[in-house]
Amino acid sequence: MNRTLAAIKVENDVLAHNYHPLPVVIESAQGAWVVDVDGKRYLDCLAGYSALNFGHGHPALLAAAREQLDRATLTSRAFHNDRLGPFAAKLADLCGMQMVLPMNTGAEAVETGVKVARRWAYEVKGVPADTAEIVVAAGNFHGRTTTVVSFSTDEQARAGFGPFTPGFTVVPYDDLDALDAAVGERTAAVLVEPIQGEAGVVVPSDGYLAGVRRICDERRALFVADEIQSGLGRTGATFACELAGVRPDVYLLGKALGGGVVPVSAVVSSREVLGLIGPGEHGSTFGGNPLAAAVGAAVVDLLATGEYQAAARRIGAVLHGGLRELVGRGVTAVRGVGAWAGVDIDPAVGTGRQVCETLAERGVLVKDTHGSTIRLAPPLVATDDEIGWALARLREVLAARPGN
Ligand SMILES: *Cc1c(COP(=O)(O)O)cnc(C)c1O
Repeated sequence: MNRTLAAIKVENDVLAHNYHPLPVVIESAQGAWVVDVDGKRYLDCLAGYSALNFGHGHPALLAAAREQLDRATLTSRAFHNDRLGPFAAKLADLCGMQMVLPMNTGAEAVETGVKVARRWAYEVKGVPADTAEIVVAAGNFHGRTTTVVSFSTDEQARAGFGPFTPGFTVVPYDDLDALDAAVGERTAAVLVEPIQGEAGVVVPSDGYLAGVRRICDERRALFVADEIQSGLGRTGATFACELAGVRPDVYLLGKALGGGVVPVSAVVSSREVLGLIGPGEHGSTFGGNPLAAAVGAAVVDLLATGEYQAAARRIGAVLHGGLRELVGRGVTAVRGVGAWAGVDIDPAVGTGRQVCETLAERGVLVKDTHGSTIRLAPPLVATDDEIGWALARLREVLAARPGN
């Protein structure tokens, strides 16, 4: 424990306190497991908020990165590189789309999506200059930049950071009547998460995403799906939109696209939409760098097999089967699909944070959100036995009532 406490003290002295991490100091990680500086092992049931869908140190992803490290790592888009084209072609194919705009972080993909949608509104839909609106959902999480928090409904994410970017309309999530009323002549896009991750893995009603699609078609607005957390295997499909049988106009991707190795994000869409952006109008020094492209291509190769989507369905059966039995036993509600679950902790048992801390003591890493919810998103390489083991630890922790 000495090394853990010492490491935490160093961090707390020098780092901005923009996070409140659980008191675990990770030193190494492999597959679904991490080891702390005192040698204690934990099953990772958060997987970097789905950035680690393929687990820690996946051999194919590390091999792709290592090979590329010795060839070329950064070229800037001032030049072409031999990795970017093949990566983009594979990714577009995976998405059933035609064009890719590579960035690094999720928030940058969202910013790019906003710019591309506005450009489309002015040049294709004919919206008068500088009046385009983007409709978003309450409870959203799309990142942390000033424009993105401009349309957040989380006061903690916004307070003290204004003035905010105009041009966004917020409607309740999973409410088609409200959406129908909000989408009009000046609407460039409807931007939603097919499942709201940060909000606590909130799955909309059947028919919601199909309704979003219909409203966008009727009013001629782009359907922009933020699949940064829900996409790339987590739900048991490549995209959560697929589960609803819906195709958006624009996918925003990130997190798992970098395989847990490097930050890789992308906007993927049609030629009609992404073809509207010309040289000098948008970009990023690191976007599409050869290291990112090599890892991203290896990620797409893993997804193309369908193996990880199948693994998410298998994990989901065990996970949700086990979690359902906890409702009424320290848990008030469970949501989610595939290897993804939001679990509301009965306040009589303790806070989400207390449950996470006690679970960590017992060797399971998860993270709380919004006070009383804990989020489970194990890497898709976890076995049924490992998921069962984590569920047993959760049962123990709930029975022990960490808040008392
Ligand atoms: C994490 C996340 C983002 C932001 O990604 P960053 O890489 O942290 O900038 C955007 N949208 C969703 C749905 C996310 O889960």
